This record gives sequence, structure tokens and C-alpha cells, in this order.
Amino acid sequence: MKPEAATENVALSWRIKERPGFTTVEFFGEIDENADFAELRRRLKASVVFNLAEVRRINSCGVREWVNFVRDLPGVTELTFTHCSPAIVTQLNMIYNFRGGAKVRSFLAPYVCENCNTEEDKLLDVHTHFPTRDTKKMPEFTCEKCGEQMEFDDLPERYLSFLAEP
Ligand SMILES: [Zn+2]
Repeated sequence: MKPEAATENVALSWRIKERPGFTTVEFFGEIDENADFAELRRRLKASVVFNLAEVRRINSCGVREWVNFVRDLPGVTELTFTHCSPAIVTQLNMIYNFRGGAKVRSFLAPYVCENCNTEEDKLLDVHTHFPTRDTKKMPEFTCEKCGEQMEFDDLPERYLSFLAEP
């Protein structure tokens, strides 16, 4: 491995916030073989929301750690994923038990403005934007820099295939 590649790795961390009636956990960095969810698993109870916007990368060992984590949360009665990053969406689409028993509430989708090359991940809400889970119609966004219409920068049937699961 090149040394500069090593310094790019950001170890996984998280921040827990207690809210009235539920707990949110914001994850940051990369999920790999060093991810240790044991302490977090013990702390989580009842209704839990995972904010996954800042999960940048997941390697195959990380996928295994994550799947083992989410399928064994004995204290959790309700689990929700929000702000799923493109890296998380990729795994949701490939690994059928990546979500465990979680419901996906919202996710980030890559958009690009072909006029000025602005790229931006837009937050899409499953209930608001895909009430019937119909993936043929992507929400439209206007470029904040030049005012042109932005394009979804992936294949909807691929990027949104996880929506087919309940
Ligand atoms: Zn633009």
C-alpha cells in the first residue's frame, strides 16, 4: 500500500445523540475490518436512527462486520437508516441483508449539472419522492450555480433497486 493511500483512510467513528423517544447515531469515516461495534451494540435500545451521510467507503470485511452488527441488536425495537451515502446505497443494492431489520427513510443521490459541471449529492426522502416506490421518475433539481436543470448521475433502476424491498 502506498503511504499516501494509508493517510486517506478515516477510521470509523460515531456520535450518539439521545432524543425524546429515540436515539440517533451519526457515523463517520470508513467501515472496514477495524470496525468494532461491540460497545455500540450494548448501548443501543428501543427506537434507533442511523445517520449514514458521512460513511465514505465500505470494504468487503467492513460489510461482514456491519451485517453481523445490524442483525444482532437485541435491545433495538425499531431501526431506521437516514441520509444513506452513495457508498451505503451501493451496499443496500448488492447485499440483501445489509439493512438488517432497518427501514430506509432517506438517502443521497448524485446529481450533475451538465452546463457548469457542478456535482452535488441531493437528499431524497423515500416517502416524499417515491411514495409508490416507482423509480421511473427522479425528482428534479435546479443547479444553484447556473439555474439549469440537473441530471441524475447514475442509472435509476440500478441506484434505486433497494427501494423494491419493504
Ligand atoms: Zn450548473
